[in-house]
Amino acid sequence: MKNEINIIALDGPAASGKSTLGERLANYLGFVYLDTGVMYRAVTLAVLKQNVDVEDETSVVQVAEKMDLDFCPPSCSDGRSNDVILEGEDVTWQIRKPEVEAYVSLVSTYPGVRNAMTMQQRKIASKGGIVMVGRDIGTVVLPNADLKIYLDASVEVRAERRYNELIHRNQNPDFDFILSDLKRRDEIDSTRTVAPLKPASDAIIIDSNKMDAEQVFQNLVDIIKTRKLN
Ligand code: C5P
Repeated sequence: MKNEINIIALDGPAASGKSTLGERLANYLGFVYLDTGVMYRAVTLAVLKQNVDVEDETSVVQVAEKMDLDFCPPSCSDGRSNDVILEGEDVTWQIRKPEVEAYVSLVSTYPGVRNAMTMQQRKIASKGGIVMVGRDIGTVVLPNADLKIYLDASVEVRAERRYNELIHRNQNPDFDFILSDLKRRDEIDSTRTVAPLKPASDAIIIDSNKMDAEQVFQNLVDIIKTRKLN
């Protein structure tokens, strides 16, 4: 691992808090922040909007390869970190809908989809100064990242956090559904043949079961400061 930190890979399972942590870390360091889950969600939404059968791998890959996706500064302050624009339409919240969540892990198993997303992600990272968040960033997308973090927490703790997040957004969540859906996505994400969810062999694993977001952030800042001093 290197002292100069320019590219940070941050991986972990669904609802582990990596998006919040990644965005905060990027702001702190003055880096670009990229949440790659948004890209897989956008492919899934595009597939649904175009009435493509999610099980038709060839057609889904074509959608992924042609997808016109853009990230813009937030146009309003409704909790978004930026605007997600798909084919010219603001889909920032549409990609968070249950229909997308139901199919995103299946769509993400297709090697052609992963290939298209990985190429775009590497292009974005080539300028450096980036915190990239996902499932396979340290293992596949950016294996030479200067710092690799794997943020973990039990599925029960993650379900509770997701439940509280949805309450905060004035929704009416069902805890048991959230828990079983996280288990379902964990299973698909970690058992797929291409780029499964797992820590890179040189990743620092942070277990956030007993830490709040602030403690996890401070822990990470300490890791970065220590690295720079050595
Ligand atoms: O992180 P988020 O929950 O938004 O990701 C949505 C889904 O996208 C994940 O459940 C996973 O199936 C997929 N994904 C992936 N590889 C990434 C990021 C997300 O397969 N790098």
